[in-house]
Amino acid sequence: MLKKGNKLYSILTGSCPRCHKESMYVDKNPYHMGKIFEMHERCGHCDLKYKIEPSFFYGAMYVSYAVGIAFAVAAFVIANLFLGASLITTFIAIIGTLVVFMPVIMRISRNIWINMFVKYDAKATLHNTSR
Ligand SMILES: [Zn+2]
Repeated sequence: MLKKGNKLYSILTGSCPRCHKESMYVDKNPYHMGKIFEMHERCGHCDLKYKIEPSFFYGAMYVSYAVGIAFAVAAFVIANLFLGASLITTFIAIIGTLVVFMPVIMRISRNIWINMFVKYDAKATLHNTSR
């Protein structure tokens, strides 16, 4: 399921949405908090400019809201339905999940956001691009 060419691949790995050949991020680990939003300006492989326009990634905030809810629902289902936790424990589990996964949620949101605008192009290279 997770192979190059699938949008999920780019979303989950943070790779270039057009060529899927390299990471958009300077530091792949989202838990190195100082660098969480540090991205390369362009893809070194296909020359895609990640920041399509100024403040392009502000839109990712809307996505992060939805992704955050998805994580919260997952935490609720696991804690409350699978583990049978009480409501208060479930609530704490949801908050804990959101805090722990915040860097991942932020990155996934950016990845989803840029993938809404950029299509995968297997043939995209430095010398063969349409900008
Ligand atoms: Zn690329």
